[in-house]
Amino acid sequence: MAEYDYDLFVIGAGSGGVRAARLASELGARVGIAEEYRIGGTCVIRGCVPKKLLVYGSQYGSDFADARGFGWTCQDVRFDWPTLIHNVKREVDRLNGVYTRTLERAGVDRFLTRAVLQSPHEVKLADRDATLSAKTILVASGSHPMIPDLPGKEHLISSNECFELEQLPGSMVIIGAGYIGMEFASIFAGLGVAVTVLYRGDQILRDFDMDLRDGLAEAMRNRGVDLRVETDVASVEREGHGYRVRLKRGDSIAADRVMAAAGRRPNTMGLGLEKIGVALGWDGRLVVDEFSKSAVDNIYAVGDVTHRMNLTPVAIHEATAFAETLFNDTPTPVDHSFIPTAVFSQPEIGTVGLSEEKAREMYRRVDIYKAQFRPLRAMVSGRDEKMLMKLVVDMESDKVLGCHILGGDAAEIVQMAAVALKLGVTKAQLDKTMALHPSAAEELVTMRHKWEAPAPVAGSDAAA
Ligand SMILES: Cc1cc2nc3c(=O)[nH]c(=O)nc-3n(C[C@H](O)[C@H](O)[C@H](O)COP(=O)(O)OP(=O)(O)OC[C@H]3O[C@@H](n4cnc5c(N)ncnc54)[C@H](O)[C@@H]3O)c2cc1C
Repeated sequence: MAEYDYDLFVIGAGSGGVRAARLASELGARVGIAEEYRIGGTCVIRGCVPKKLLVYGSQYGSDFADARGFGWTCQDVRFDWPTLIHNVKREVDRLNGVYTRTLERAGVDRFLTRAVLQSPHEVKLADRDATLSAKTILVASGSHPMIPDLPGKEHLISSNECFELEQLPGSMVIIGAGYIGMEFASIFAGLGVAVTVLYRGDQILRDFDMDLRDGLAEAMRNRGVDLRVETDVASVEREGHGYRVRLKRGDSIAADRVMAAAGRRPNTMGLGLEKIGVALGWDGRLVVDEFSKSAVDNIYAVGDVTHRMNLTPVAIHEATAFAETLFNDTPTPVDHSFIPTAVFSQPEIGTVGLSEEKAREMYRRVDIYKAQFRPLRAMVSGRDEKMLMKLVVDMESDKVLGCHILGGDAAEIVQMAAVALKLGVTKAQLDKTMALHPSAAEELVTMRHKWEAPAPVAGSDAAA
């Protein structure tokens, strides 16, 4: 008789958990997985996928406006939120089915309930009075939206509830200006909602390249979003059918809905991790090594719960490496360098590698190449919005350290730029690459002039 019920038990059937469970099972392991909400996890059920569909829905507003310059008459254009949200939910249900069948086909046992650790080799399922044992346990429990601790916090909704709204609000206040806040601000503003964003820091999108942060803030304001930085919220109160957001400096804003977009926290609470010796970070993240192994030898973790880089492809990559290491005899560490990422705001951001600010901290001399231009389409549509392309280059090796784009199709362009950066492309190699004309992306291979000379460093030959 086998020593354990399973070779692998996975807690959480999101992007990371499903991938690890499927691969391990296909490699011959006996695998069980528990999911307390819906199979597919955040990305499929209430993250990337439904969000991107709302982005598409919202973009039609500006597309109709832009179409006029190209000769189209768009009269009587109307939008119906219940239709959009119904169709998005239908697609989410379809994907939920696809993920469930994937596990089924791979022969993974599924438990639709909450699982917590009882000991290093035992999990307790919430819907029954028994424990299951496993040789290896993978925690892939993801993360949850953080609700700021302020008076009236019970009135706040998060991105989770945005996918469930039955009616489109007339006005909305969003607290926080990370990528999720910016995306929902753009979605709702594009659909005609009066959006106010409140952020206590000095500029949106902390840790992104400063040109992207400044450029997107300006563009969103031009598109009608009331973006207020250095603004602290004191409280939220009910007022009539809506809410009143009181600011620390004294004034207040009325809104139909108030959304918190103040970041996410790893799902480690109540999992029984600390009592069996699994180390957690200050923010609750499950601390792992390069092979995703925790402080306890047979317990591993992948995805958002480890708070390394909270993105779907990263969770999937970590899960694949985990399965290769444990079930295919191929130790595979995870390389987190040059991960491309997007902000599906309007306009969009695509970015990979180091920001100019980070590169200047890490490298002795950095060259910047920048192009800012009105895209061809805007010349006829009349949209007064500039596209930004920026390359950050290490002056000594000529290697491109970062590529940052603000404007249409930025995400699509940056996915391919990421291949080049990951392979160590130099600026000279970009210069040698033939442009594809007419496109916006061609700017990446035609930027010849440095944006600015690096500041002279005393005692060095930096200005030579
Ligand atoms: C609004 C939004 C937009 C996003 N957009 C993008 C994007 O455009 N691109 C991108 O790459 N990433 C995006 N992300 C991030 C992406 O969704 C996550 O990085 C990814 O889903 C992480 O996968 P995971 O497997 O770690 O966790 P998850 O997908 O969150 O899966 C964890 C699962 O574990 C379950 N669970 C938790 N605890 C237990 C327990 N004790 N027992 C049983 N089940 C449990 C949860 O219910 C959940 O289903 C977005 C996230 C949000 C919220």
